[in-house]
Amino acid sequence: MPGNKARVTLRHMNFQQRVEGAKRFRQYILNRDRWICYICNAKLDASGTDARGTIDHLVPVSRGGARYSSKNVRACCRTCNVSKGCLTFDEYEIVLLYRQGLIEIKAAA
Ligand SMILES: [Zn+2]
Repeated sequence: MPGNKARVTLRHMNFQQRVEGAKRFRQYILNRDRWICYICNAKLDASGTDARGTIDHLVPVSRGGARYSSKNVRACCRTCNVSKGCLTFDEYEIVLLYRQGLIEIKAAA
């Protein structure tokens, strides 16, 4: 392993280091976003409840979003994360506006 951190790439890391890296990445994002859900503004914690701090991908990984891009992730509570599912945030925003009564959508015929 080179002493210069700038030269380390994922390729240089073994499985255990990658798992550790993923954990640290999640922690970094939660701290960056001050443990507040970007959707409902709930205060997050490390518990096993619905307030548990998770990270949500604005563009889900299953839809081609980058898993470890800090630009593509936000701190999110478990409830919102599950509710958003595999929608992109732009798609989910329509659901949120509808739920809040800010836009009307006619029922399917
Ligand atoms: Zn939330």
